Amino acid sequence: MRLRRPCRHGPCRLQFLLLLLMLGGLLLMVAMRHPPPHPQHLPPAQVMEHSPEAGYRLDFGESQEWVLEDDQEYSPLEDLPPFISLREDQLLVVVPHPRARRNQSQGRRGGSYRLIQQPSRRLDEEAPERDWGAEEDDYRDVSEEEELSPLRLEQALSARIPLQRALPEVRHPLCLQQRPGDSLPTASVILCFHDEAWSTLLRTVHSVLDTAPRAFLKEIILVDDLSEQGQLKSALSEYVARLEGVKLLRSNKRLGAVRARMLGATRATGDVLVFMDSHCECHPGWLEPLLSRIAGDRSRVVSPVIDVIDWKTFRYEPSTDLQRGVLDWKLDFHWEPLPERERKGLRSPTSPIRSPVVPGGVVAIDRHYFQNTGAYDPLMSLQGAENLELSLKAWLCGGSVEILPCSRVGHLYRSQDTPSTLDQEAALQNKVRLAETWLGSFKDTFYRHSPEAFSLSKAEQPDCTERQQLQRRLGCRTFHWFLAHIYPELYPSERRPRFSGKLHNTGLGFCADCRADRELLGCAVVLAPCSDSRWQQHLEHTGRKEIHFGGMQHLCFDVQQEQVILQNCTKEGPAIHQQHWDFQGNGMLVHIISGKCMEAIVQENNKDLYLRPCDGKASQLWQFDQVNTVDER
Ligand code: UDP
Ligand code: MN
Repeated sequence: MRLRRPCRHGPCRLQFLLLLLMLGGLLLMVAMRHPPPHPQHLPPAQVMEHSPEAGYRLDFGESQEWVLEDDQEYSPLEDLPPFISLREDQLLVVVPHPRARRNQSQGRRGGSYRLIQQPSRRLDEEAPERDWGAEEDDYRDVSEEEELSPLRLEQALSARIPLQRALPEVRHPLCLQQRPGDSLPTASVILCFHDEAWSTLLRTVHSVLDTAPRAFLKEIILVDDLSEQGQLKSALSEYVARLEGVKLLRSNKRLGAVRARMLGATRATGDVLVFMDSHCECHPGWLEPLLSRIAGDRSRVVSPVIDVIDWKTFRYEPSTDLQRGVLDWKLDFHWEPLPERERKGLRSPTSPIRSPVVPGGVVAIDRHYFQNTGAYDPLMSLQGAENLELSLKAWLCGGSVEILPCSRVGHLYRSQDTPSTLDQEAALQNKVRLAETWLGSFKDTFYRHSPEAFSLSKAEQPDCTERQQLQRRLGCRTFHWFLAHIYPELYPSERRPRFSGKLHNTGLGFCADCRADRELLGCAVVLAPCSDSRWQQHLEHTGRKEIHFGGMQHLCFDVQQEQVILQNCTKEGPAIHQQHWDFQGNGMLVHIISGKCMEAIVQENNKDLYLRPCDGKASQLWQFDQVNTVDER
């Protein structure tokens, strides 16, 4: 070999080796004294020098910001078991970027973290200290300043409320007597956000830091799902850099809440993952009950009681009754007062509440259990129904789901605006995935209640094979078991649609429809050419004798000055009321309270529906597409 040639004798070789060793050592020392410079691609906030006065609690771990790059390999943390259904190519590549360790002698403060400096542009610095909620005046002041949209109004109002505020005590007195053990698992709180308002986002972060005991809070991981608002860029990086234990992960693709949460989870190191919306405020003592239940059984998926933060006033409005999370046949989530049967089974008002499903806003789950049971469905888009999928998967595959009354977190319920079309479509797609994966033969019941989902499933034919394989691999039970054991109320017989589908008028050969473009409430029911693709034509005549407007579960056939219109379905009321229709064997639809019949009347270009004395003429005869006689359970 070339290197050996000048030296042919043994001692000479030895000298050469020694020389090499010394040289190596020297190089190593030089390298350690001069670490490589910061990579050039970091945003300015990351290479900024921090003021020496900065104080940090170092026993709480390092503050970090991670950047994501497209061209590098993603490697999961070593202690994590392999993912079962996480499609790594769907997530972004993560490059951990530990910040330089800060001066350890500075700012050690026992007991709590310290906020060093708040960016001066924020309104809340001038805000007077208040306990909670905004005053009437705040609302007026803000709205008088300029014409603001509801969202801007909400943001401006939120900015006037301190980032740190104490919430009123709303827990049951018995909760205050509970003492959590010392050996609870640790939590990683994952907050993902897309263009969240500065103040609501940071109030969430501060409230977690202020309420979660340090011993149990491993970290907060913020996942920026490609926000565009300027303040969420370098100003947020700077702000977060000053908070110990808070990490910021930025995505350079819009992942949606589901996948952004999963991305956060891949970087988490705590024993338990707590997924939380980026506009929450935690009540003292919220975390310990969650951790303690999971410590007792790692397959429990648990949620706090979610209280309301009113978007108009930012007041914290606690729920007073014991509630559980349920789903309906449109696969929408609802809160429901705990039924008597379940209430009786509780040992105390602080006992965990067995819940068919958890809400979407805050949920805690053991990290390994989450990953080993297939996390969230990675093919779900943006957001919606992922909480139902997580819950059903837990119940059906050996776990359980609970709401814990002593754990309370407030969630900002946004203005009543209907969600954007994009969000609605995403939620519908996710529901179809949920139905195709977990509902088995009951998916038809879902499709009957949601004809728009049916059309979507036919048009897009989503591929759920990976999820179905997961289900088989985990040996999960069927949805029938869920209905029989966990939520038998889901399909009470009185609500079972007896007749459904399009409602044909025998005389005119057209179908009942509502032609309003936007506002369906109050819409006059008319006849229009029958069409399978119009969800507005899908109706259900239920065992309660109501005619539900298929696309909108809350709308029912009602009568105003003898004309048939859509109104909100009456929840409770007299035994017989305005919205009751008897579908008689001869095809007549009798409005029970008036005894008159639904008749199609042609006037000018319209074919409206009116009540007329029953005489059995063809324009008073009706037919539904389907007669449902099968017992669904
Ligand atoms: N979110 C996100 N990416 C998205 C949509 C939502 O990161 O594409 C975040 C959002 O900022 C919030 C959470 O996901 O923290 C849940 O969304 P949202 O609060 O709008 O859902 P809701 O509470 O209305 O069901
Ligand atoms: Mn939310």
